[in-house]
Amino acid sequence: MITFEEAFTIVKESAFRTGKEEVKISDAAGRALAMPVKSDMDMPPWNKSAVDGYACRREDLGKELTVLETVAAGVMPSKTVMPGSCSRIMTGAAVPQGTDYVFMLENSEEKEGGRVIFTGRPGNDNIAKAAEDFFSGQTVLKAGRYIKPQDIAVMAAVGAMEVTVSCKAGVGVISTGDELVEPDRMPAGAQIRNSNASQLMAQVARAGALGTYYGIARDEEAAIEALLRKALKENDVVLISGGVSFGDFDLVPKVMRALGLTIHFDQVAMQPGKPLTFCTGEKKAVFGLPGNPVSTFVQFEVMVRPFLDRMAGVITEEPVMLMPLAADYSRKRAERLAWIPFTVTPAGEALPAEYHGSGHINALTGAWGLITIPLGQSWIQKGEMVSVRRI
Ligand code: AMP
Ligand code: MG
Repeated sequence: MITFEEAFTIVKESAFRTGKEEVKISDAAGRALAMPVKSDMDMPPWNKSAVDGYACRREDLGKELTVLETVAAGVMPSKTVMPGSCSRIMTGAAVPQGTDYVFMLENSEEKEGGRVIFTGRPGNDNIAKAAEDFFSGQTVLKAGRYIKPQDIAVMAAVGAMEVTVSCKAGVGVISTGDELVEPDRMPAGAQIRNSNASQLMAQVARAGALGTYYGIARDEEAAIEALLRKALKENDVVLISGGVSFGDFDLVPKVMRALGLTIHFDQVAMQPGKPLTFCTGEKKAVFGLPGNPVSTFVQFEVMVRPFLDRMAGVITEEPVMLMPLAADYSRKRAERLAWIPFTVTPAGEALPAEYHGSGHINALTGAWGLITIPLGQSWIQKGEMVSVRRI
């Protein structure tokens, strides 16, 4: 048995990159940016007014000023502002030549003859300087990130109508187990519904990869082999749930070997998910996920997702997030690193959720995330900071 950290290192180092493709800005959200995006202009392109008001010279503040013109957003000023004058200006408009201050309408008073005076106290000039946000030629988005809506705004601002992204990894999903029926059927006798496949397909999609479902393999070597062979041929990665423990019908590792795959580990000191089995072939990887629904879920989040991130070229580690524990926590045995679901209290503390173990999938639906309980730690006091992750 190896530690989570050891297993995680093996998994990360085994990731292989997918190819690259161009996508339109309208299809780019959620994709992994594979080439940096550079700006083709300065932003703002000129000194820009941040408020509705009057543009003038700072030394003229407090004097009655002649208003030369009104500068609307989208129109360039036509007059240079000389001492004793100003121009009325709207938010987002270019400030006129000769000005270094814009006072707000709210801080002004109109005087006889179309003149105006500043009535506030001088402070910030209310001018956004040319190129203060970014300049022409600057890299505005680095490669190796999932594209978020705010990144789309930056792409639009610099006219990047197409960007280079990593191709989506193809991920085959297989369930194993004689007890399973598909979720559209009412289980009879000793049967239960196959929830892992639907869940994994959703997790794969959320991770930005392309899932394909291959069905349920009966607990027979030939059945598992047939599905795994097909899924491997058609995908980069295969997730196969169930059949990796040490029961009489846990045949997945045997089939992995028969297919010529190299098993890197089959037992990790973590909970849930101890029998996680990871193997690779030439530009192929298979995760044998423990069948218990919470194990499958958690192992995807902690192992498979970081693997898929690296395949897409996204290598930045998630920062460690810490929250104070809302209640004392204890466990009988501490020989495994554990993840437990938690909710957030109104005071912003992490409260371990009611959780009956790795079959209790609905414990995750109300959970905000998972608390990491380090290996060797059996007791944590209320108020101590614990490492958390969002799920
Ligand atoms: P296994 O890893 O095959 O020994 O399965 C462990 C537990 O998870 C058993 O209680 C199985 O019935 C359950 N299980 C296995 N696969 C699934 C699945 N696809 N959906 C829901 N539960 C499953
Ligand atoms: Mg099974």
